[in-house]
Amino acid sequence: MLNTNGVPDKKQIFSRFPDKKYILKPKAITECYEEIPCNPCSTSCPFDAIYIGEDINTAPIVDFEKCTGCGICVYNCPGLAIFIVQELDNENARFKIPYELIPLPIKGETWSGVNRAGEVITKVLIEKVSLTEKQDKTALIQVLVPIEFINDFITIRSKL
Ligand code: SF4
Ligand code: SF4
Repeated sequence: MLNTNGVPDKKQIFSRFPDKKYILKPKAITECYEEIPCNPCSTSCPFDAIYIGEDINTAPIVDFEKCTGCGICVYNCPGLAIFIVQELDNENARFKIPYELIPLPIKGETWSGVNRAGEVITKVLIEKVSLTEKQDKTALIQVLVPIEFINDFITIRSKL
């Protein structure tokens, strides 16, 4: 439970995922549940796809019709609370996650996939690592994840 151990429950997680039809293409998922004074996700989106409104404490809402999955909001979120997900086929989902630890993974490596409780749940393939100057030290890691973990996977860990 988010209020007791910081881990969102399934209902909270599902509340941030769109209908399946949307995630056949890459879409941003904002796991930002608290009312906090923050809005870089909204102001950084070039497609006006994240709505917060006049009250900066309002939790962000993604317009999945507008979101292109570009990933700009992911590295602009100071809370590392956004990732991109796409259902590729019956076997794999593709994620783009923020990552600020070193060493960075390398394309082609296999890392551990970790859930929101910090438990290793699967192995994932590192497809791409992006870290440009404008990302300000928040790398974007593109990861291939077995489809059964699409609602559980959240990050990576190097030790298999
Ligand atoms: S992924 Fe790109 S288009 Fe989608 S909400 Fe983030 S910045 Fe906007
Ligand atoms: S930038 Fe991140 S932490 Fe801030 S409101 Fe947006 S999703 Fe939440």
